[in-house]
Amino acid sequence: PEAITVQELANRMAARGGEVVKALFRMGVMATLTQSIDADTAELVVQEFGHRVRRVSESDVEIGLEGMEDTDTDLQPRPPVVTIMGHVDHGKTSLLDALRKTDVVAHEAGGITQHIGAYQITVPDGSKVTFIDTPGHEAFTAMRARGASVTDMVVLVVAADDGVMPQTIEAIRHAKAAGVPLIVAVNKIDKPGVKPDRVKQELLQHEVVVESLGGDTQEIEVSATQRINLDKLLEAISLQAEVLDLKANPNRAAEGTVIESKLDRGRGPVATVLVQKGTLKQGDIVVAGAEWGRVRAMLDDKGRQLKDAPPSLPVEILGLSGVPSAGDNFIAVENEARAREVSEFRQRRAREKATAALGARGSLNDMLAR
Ligand code: GDP
Ligand code: MG
Repeated sequence: PEAITVQELANRMAARGGEVVKALFRMGVMATLTQSIDADTAELVVQEFGHRVRRVSESDVEIGLEGMEDTDTDLQPRPPVVTIMGHVDHGKTSLLDALRKTDVVAHEAGGITQHIGAYQITVPDGSKVTFIDTPGHEAFTAMRARGASVTDMVVLVVAADDGVMPQTIEAIRHAKAAGVPLIVAVNKIDKPGVKPDRVKQELLQHEVVVESLGGDTQEIEVSATQRINLDKLLEAISLQAEVLDLKANPNRAAEGTVIESKLDRGRGPVATVLVQKGTLKQGDIVVAGAEWGRVRAMLDDKGRQLKDAPPSLPVEILGLSGVPSAGDNFIAVENEARAREVSEFRQRRAREKATAALGARGSLNDMLAR
């Protein structure tokens, strides 16, 4: 597709036209300042100049300040984002509930606990942990299918009385495919006669080697309902977070992922988003999936109204034009015109994908009819 002129590209990068011509030449592309190059080529040039690119349309690339790579000095530590996975009835919900109750600031808030698909707790040492609280596997799969990665680590819950089961194995596969580390929580150790050691052996068959067997996967024996070793599990999480050295730049336009969304009768479209970069501010203009709008209000999982949401904080946002999907990317943009542009591009892309899928189905039907 026809795209940007060399001069315009240079302007956007605040680079000299001649430098861009030279860079193109090195890539084997002969172009003068007034000639247009396609977006794919433009992307390569932009990367060559050390910038990050964002496609805003099929034929256009955006090189804005918010697209710039963060330097080391911009990066600050951020809380880990944890997903709890495991076989049905092994205690995921119970564990999420139990961990939520360890929040040392919850009672001070005075707000009412909301289910927004994710929550953040403050542990006794003052550090924070974010838990994704969506129906695990489906959300995880949906997000991965959209190329979104939200979780830094997976806590794999395995009931001591049941052992490794099909969804345990599935969870291990998901975590491995996503390249995120596992922490094993052997749950229900309060039950009489359970053998947590058996779980370790079973995990071995799926290439999960826990520390007590010489591997590097942390393993904690817990009881969600009896609240045993929750502190140890939180310690394991913060240790893993330290190893991962999680950082983000809070001082830039916000970017992140939609965790869940719904159409609320009173409040209109409501989306829970996880801020992954930058700080989301009330009043920001955002694009979430193909929807956009001005953030009218922002609430945390304790129902408190926020003015700012830093990296790793999940917040509910109000003010979008429609309901985006779990796994959709969201970005704060500079103005409404830009929001419309990005939104239209995403809508067009979604339509094209749908048409392509329809076409594929059509031809399959044709084949079957023959
Ligand atoms: P999920 O399907 O993985 O979310 O599992 P749930 O949290 O719904 O738990 C399934 C069942 O196991 C419920 O009846 C819980 O009360 C029970 N359960 C969960 N954790 C424990 C535990 O640590 N000890 C015991 N004895 N029961 C538990
Ligand atoms: Mg559950």
